[in-house]
Amino acid sequence: MMDDVEFIAEMEGKVNSGVEIRLPEAQRLLNTTDVQILAESANRIAQRFSEGLIDVEMLLNAKSGSCPEDCSFCAQSSFYESKINKYPLLSKETILGRAQTAKASGANSFCLVCAYKSPPDSDFNHICDIIEHIKKYLEIDVNVSLGFMTKERAERLKMIGVKRYNHNLETSETYFSQICTTHDFSDRVNTARIVKEAGLELCCGGIIGMGENSLQRLELAYSIRDLLPDEVPINILIPKPGTPFENLHGVSPIDAIKTIAVWRFLMPTPIIKVAAGREVYFKDNDNMALKAGANGIITGGYLTTNGNDPGRDLEMIRDIGINPA
Ligand code: SF4
Repeated sequence: MMDDVEFIAEMEGKVNSGVEIRLPEAQRLLNTTDVQILAESANRIAQRFSEGLIDVEMLLNAKSGSCPEDCSFCAQSSFYESKINKYPLLSKETILGRAQTAKASGANSFCLVCAYKSPPDSDFNHICDIIEHIKKYLEIDVNVSLGFMTKERAERLKMIGVKRYNHNLETSETYFSQICTTHDFSDRVNTARIVKEAGLELCCGGIIGMGENSLQRLELAYSIRDLLPDEVPINILIPKPGTPFENLHGVSPIDAIKTIAVWRFLMPTPIIKVAAGREVYFKDNDNMALKAGANGIITGGYLTTNGNDPGRDLEMIRDIGINPA
C-alpha cells in the first residue's frame, strides 16, 4: 500500500485531471498525519484553479437578532438569551456608509446579511432600493444573505445586480436535526437551488466544530459540492454564551486546516473562504489557512463577533506573496 505522501500526490494528480475524489479517498486524506504535505498539495490546487488571487469580503449585519428559527449555534435566534446588539433593518444612509467603507478598505465585495427566516415585503423592497443605489454609485460587488428565497425574489435580486447569494447548509444532512428543529436540511438545499436557477452566484458553506463527526464533515462537503457553489465559506464554531452550543469547543487548528485542505481537494474551483473562527482558532497564524487551500477571507468582523482590521488582513495576504483579488 502506498504511503500517505504518495497517496496525497496521487489525489492531487486526480484533481488536476478533473477526476472527482471519492468518499473513501477523502477519508484517507482527512486521516493523514502528513498535514504539512496535505496543506501544500491543497494550496497548489487552489493556486492552479484560482490564478493565485484572494477574495476579500466585508460583511454588514444589517438586521440583527430576533430570528424566529432555533439554530443552536446562533446568537441571533429569538429562542435564546444571548447578549448581542439587536436592531431592525438599518437605514439606507448607514448601509451606504458601510459599503463605502468596504470599498475604501480594499474589499472587493460587500455582503449585506440580515437575520430573517424571510424578510417581510417592506424590508425586502428597502434592501433592493439600497442595492440599486450601491450598484449605481460604487464599484463593488454586492452579495446578500436574506434567509429563505422564493424564485421571484431571487430573480429580482439578479435583475438589480446582486452578484452572489449566501445560504449555508450549516452541517451534514445526518446531523442537521441536532442543530435546528424549525426547518430542515432540504429547506436549505431548496433555497440554494432557487438561487442558482435565478442565475445568481451561490455562496454555500457551513460550520465545523458543532459536535459532528469527521464523516459528517465530509458529507457536508459533498452536499455543498453537488450544488455547484461559486464560493464556500468554512466557519469554525465560536460558542456563543446563551446558546445551546455555548459549551462546545469547536475543533483544533490542525483539524480545521485538514478540513480546509480536503474540501479543496473535493472542490477545486470555488472560492473557499475561511470565515468566522479564523481569528479565534488560528490567532496570528491565520495565514496558515491561506496556505492550505483557502483563497478567501472575511475582513473587519462577522455578524455578532469582531474580526481583524482590514489593513492588517491585507498586509497578511501580501506577506505570504499572494494578491487580493
Ligand atoms: S442561523 Fe440564520 S436562520 Fe438560524 S437562527 Fe441564526 S439568523 Fe436565524
